[in-house]
Amino acid sequence: MTAGELAGLAVVVTGGASGIGAAIADRLDRAGAAVAVLDVSPAYADPRFASFAADVSDRKSAEAAMAAAADRLAGIDILVNNAGVGAVGDVAANDDDEWARVLSINVTGIARATAAALPWLRASGAAAVCNIASIAATAGLRERALYSASKGAVLALTRAMAADHLREGIRVNAVSPGTADTPWVERLLHSSADPATERAALEARQPHGRLVSPEEVAAAVAYLVGPSAGSTTGSIIEVDGGAAGLRLRPH
Ligand code: NAD
Repeated sequence: MTAGELAGLAVVVTGGASGIGAAIADRLDRAGAAVAVLDVSPAYADPRFASFAADVSDRKSAEAAMAAAADRLAGIDILVNNAGVGAVGDVAANDDDEWARVLSINVTGIARATAAALPWLRASGAAAVCNIASIAATAGLRERALYSASKGAVLALTRAMAADHLREGIRVNAVSPGTADTPWVERLLHSSADPATERAALEARQPHGRLVSPEEVAAAVAYLVGPSAGSTTGSIIEVDGGAAGLRLRPH
C-alpha cells in the first residue's frame, strides 16, 4: 500500500483499542484514513483516534456508537469488524449462556455493526468491510469448540455479506490470522505457571516457528479495504505462517 492510498476515507475499527485492532487502526491511519475506534474499553485506545464506547453484543450500543463515529468522521467508507473474545474447552465446557455471549460478540456483533454502518457504506462510493476470522475457523483446534464455531460462522457470514452487497458497491472480505502476539495471547500465557517456557513452546508449534505479528494482519486488512483490491470480494486472506494453505496442524 502506498502512503496516502486511503486519504479522505473514514474508517471504523471495532475492538480497536488493543492488539490486532490497534495495529489495524494505526496502519489505516498511516495510509491516510480518518480512523474511529469502537471498543468496550475505549480508554485504552490510542489518543490519535476518535474513540467511542461500544459493545457490539448490544444493538443499541453498537448503533449509537456507529452513528457517533459517522458524525465525527462525516461518513463511513470502511468498517473493520475485529472485536472478538475467546473461549476455551470442548463442547461440554461452556454453558448455554457462554455460547450465547461469545456468538453474540464474535458473530452477531459483526452483523450488528455492519447493519448499523450500512447507510453510510451505501453512500460511500469506496466502501469495504473486513472481518477478522481465525485459523480456528478451519483448522480443527483442540479445546476451542465454541471459539472455532464462532469463527467458522465469520467466514460464512463474510461470503453471504459479500454476495448481498456486491451490487451496492460494498466489498466484504476477511483476514484469518494464526496465533498472533497480542495482549490476548499474553493473558493466556500469564495464566500458566511458566509464561516464558509456555511462549517458547507456543512459538515452536507455529508452522513458521513464531507468532504472527499484529502488523502482518493489519497489512492484509489494509490491502483488502484499499483501492488495489477493487475486484476482490468474498475472499479470505490467511496470515498464519502457512497453516491453512499448506494444511499443516498448528498444534
Ligand atoms: P485483544 O483482546 O487484544 O483485543 C480485543 C479488543 O476487542 C479489546 O480492545 C476488547 O476491549 C475489544 N472487545 C471485546 N469485546 C468487545 C465487544 N463486545 N464490543 C466491542 N469491543 C470488544 O484481542 P486480539 O488478539 O487483538 O484479537 C482481535 C481479533 O483477532 C479477535 O476477533 C480475535 O478472535 C482475532 N484473532 C486473534 C488471534 C490471536 O492469536 N491473538 C488469532 C486469530 C484471530
